[in-house]
Amino acid sequence: MRNENAGVCDGAGRGTTRAGEEGFVTVRNGMECEEGSSLLRELSAPDAPGGEKVPVLPPDIKRTPMLEQYFFWKERYPDCLLFFRMGDFFELFFDDARTASAVLDITLTARDPEKKIPMAGVPFHAVEGYLGRLVREGFSVALCDQVTEPDGRTLVERSVVRVVTPGTYVPEDPSGEGRLAALAPAGEGGIALALLAPGTGSLEAGTVSENEAASLLATFAPQEILLPRGTPERLPGRIREQIARIPQRLLARSHFDPASGEERLAARFAVASLAAHGVLPGDAAAGCARVALDYLEETHFSAARHVRRLRPLHSGLFLHLDVTTVRNLDLVEGDALSLFAVLNRCGTPMGKRCLREWILRPLRSVEEIRKRQDAVASLTEDPVLLRAVRDALGACRDVERALGRLSLRVGTPRDLAAIRDTLAAFPGLVALCEGRKAGEPLRAVPDLAPLMETLRTLADDPPRLVHAGGVIRDGADPELDEWRCVARGGEEWLRDYAARERELRGIKSLKVGYNKVFGYYIEISRANLENIPPEYSRKQTLVGGERFVTEELAVFEDRMRSSSERIAARESALYEELVRSTLEAGACVQELGRALAALDATASLAEVAWERGYVRPLVTEGTRLALHGARHPVVEVALGNRPFTPNDVLLDGDGVRIAVVTGPNMAGKSTYLRMAALLILMAQMGSFVPAERAEVGLTDRIFTRIGARDELDRGLSTFMVEMVETAGILHNVTDRSFVVLDEIGRGTSTYDGMSIAWAVLEYLLAPCGARPKVLFATHFHELTALAERHGEITNCSMAVEETAEGVTFLHRVVPRPADRSYGIEVARRAGIPEAVLRRSRELLREFETRRVVPGGEGGAGAFPDGAVGAEAARSVPGQGRGRMRQLSLLDAAKDAVLEELALLDPDSLTPLQALEVLYRLREKSRCALEEGAP
Ligand code: ADP
Ligand code: MG
Repeated sequence: MRNENAGVCDGAGRGTTRAGEEGFVTVRNGMECEEGSSLLRELSAPDAPGGEKVPVLPPDIKRTPMLEQYFFWKERYPDCLLFFRMGDFFELFFDDARTASAVLDITLTARDPEKKIPMAGVPFHAVEGYLGRLVREGFSVALCDQVTEPDGRTLVERSVVRVVTPGTYVPEDPSGEGRLAALAPAGEGGIALALLAPGTGSLEAGTVSENEAASLLATFAPQEILLPRGTPERLPGRIREQIARIPQRLLARSHFDPASGEERLAARFAVASLAAHGVLPGDAAAGCARVALDYLEETHFSAARHVRRLRPLHSGLFLHLDVTTVRNLDLVEGDALSLFAVLNRCGTPMGKRCLREWILRPLRSVEEIRKRQDAVASLTEDPVLLRAVRDALGACRDVERALGRLSLRVGTPRDLAAIRDTLAAFPGLVALCEGRKAGEPLRAVPDLAPLMETLRTLADDPPRLVHAGGVIRDGADPELDEWRCVARGGEEWLRDYAARERELRGIKSLKVGYNKVFGYYIEISRANLENIPPEYSRKQTLVGGERFVTEELAVFEDRMRSSSERIAARESALYEELVRSTLEAGACVQELGRALAALDATASLAEVAWERGYVRPLVTEGTRLALHGARHPVVEVALGNRPFTPNDVLLDGDGVRIAVVTGPNMAGKSTYLRMAALLILMAQMGSFVPAERAEVGLTDRIFTRIGARDELDRGLSTFMVEMVETAGILHNVTDRSFVVLDEIGRGTSTYDGMSIAWAVLEYLLAPCGARPKVLFATHFHELTALAERHGEITNCSMAVEETAEGVTFLHRVVPRPADRSYGIEVARRAGIPEAVLRRSRELLREFETRRVVPGGEGGAGAFPDGAVGAEAARSVPGQGRGRMRQLSLLDAAKDAVLEELALLDPDSLTPLQALEVLYRLREKSRCALEEGAP
């Protein structure tokens, strides 16, 4: 039930199938769908996992009609927790009750005195909150509701009206919303993918490379995945691993058929072919999109009419960011402060979603980028306007999701109110943005005045539940007003009536009251019972008196009861009418949502740019990257009042395009590298950037590899991860790529690591066949030698100021290699005891004079062209040979000590490890000296 194959089952239509009937026909908002297409039914077929999960009734328990009804539905939804409506509660039985009790922390009771049928329940009006907690844990729920009014005589009819699954859940709170993906392997290593956000109705599909699929899945983060049966094994290991923890539903391959998928979707979107939506004939993605949409509709028993278009997913449109880059650069929410957190000043949930998408999908068209920049500029130029726009946006609500919820029949009067309030704020925004570039999206929004007029009848602050009353305002409907008048007049009438009777009968203590069982009554105390007129008929005897009814009171009671029923019926009809009109204008409401989202994201970028002094970058078709006085947008914020030292980045695909950055730990190398990547990304999303001046040649991909990051949770050794990712970069770079390599080769021994780093750099110089721009930070000084031989490489380092007291890191990039690594200086700052530091300096000096690794002072290394690898490093010809000879003069034990020292990477040691190593080496060297003594 949980996670793997937490399947859902049959799609019996709302109100169309009753216990005892044979066939199943799925009805969605009045549209009948073909028999036998039900995905839900397939998932609950007898051979599907979970088929054995229907509970067995203990033999001595009588199968009552109600239990009969329960089993009828449970058999159809064996893999769901069945929520069975009984009066004011949804009850769960048997194992479902045990599970729900444990997950939801609700009391486990029993339905029968012998306690053979465990039971647990939740109040029906609070059911949403419980559903959210269950889907978060990977469960699916079938809601079996009462579909006829209880009349106290016959069994209430019940029917499953909705199935809630992790990927299709659309709660009021957007943070709990489901995300659904469908995927299938497509030819030539491609993966067909559809991503569906049920709340907003955003549906995207395309056949993409494994790399792209991995990053799309990582950023979309689906909570449920649909796959053709027999394919999970055929997916690349990396994708399989990525989706391993997400509930997967396996369906017949026929559902994923591209041709019928295309046909169905084209009919659905009323277009001749899906090519209009960017999906070409025969694309397996059409099948995926169709399955995702069908599944959403079947779980909601409703036509998801808010899914109005398909957006293509393919690489050419956006700057590609691989999974690791999204993580390494802390682009969106995670543990660290993210770029999103810095740029987000949005006033609406729609704006936030839009901004997040802009960050994850930067543009690749200069024209589009300039359009967004123009919009941002039109607001930064006019802070007063910006303030006013942001204020007006504050009154807008999440109309995209409100519409989605109404379409899926899980909406409430509050969703209508959200749309109404936003419509009210809209004309003001249009007026404000008149003639401004930022207001351009608003001009595309169709006239919504008629819908606004219709929604005027909605109460100012309607309740969440329709039957709570007060959804429609007074004066909106004469019939409703009349019945409300009756209901309100009732109290007054009752008061008058009591006064009249007291007078007429001469009984001062006569009272009129109401109770649930007997309805309205007249109460007379025992002392006055002889004055009772014949038209009083006795209803109830009390200790101190009697209660009576009269003809008049009975008529009144009738009127009161029917008035509250009429009010409820009328309000519900009027509400449904409002929902219908709103859905009819759905496409326009979505346009409105999109326009507001774009304006909000633009205003957010403008606000941050204005406040933090960002500039408009020049984005060109060229290959130059020139950032002057650039700052890291996130570190700058994290530093608070401490100043950030600006730096320049100057690379050109046709000139110096690789910079090797050296310098001590903590000097700011990583910050510098990521800053460059972030500024490119910001420029291409249309944002302004933290710099004095910036020119960015269009980039197609940003790759990052940050060395020595612990990823043991993925079950791979750090070094393996590093090499896999580096390989991914080397295979995929293009002339327009930007590559950040931060301390690669760190996860292995010094020789291996340096050799690999060296070889990677060489590969990027020529054999890769492309001329990407590269920032390469390394602690291997030997690599700086490469710049002397290749005009495309330059050296730079982080400036350090040395004084008598120690060194200060200036965080300033200077155009020359670092002269040493300052590892011991960092150890001093970390509080390593002075004795250890002294000894380390001694050892370092010794090591430097007896260096086994080739390369003189200042890192002018002697690694020859082509001689790469640990063995090569040890057997370097020429000057190296002398050193090797020097080594061989020592006896084996001394040799071992030296070898161990040489292999040490002090930077990667914790202070404690450093101490341990020192003690061990001291022990070993004492032994060696004793042995070697004559
Ligand atoms: P490295 O990669 O060289 O070890 P980092 O880039 O991780 O160094 O930087 C270490 C810290 O130095 C950062 O967390 C930041 O606080 C500070 N820092 C880095 N660059 C700058 C800068 N340009 N201006 C101010 N502080 C900086
Ligand atoms: Mg670093």
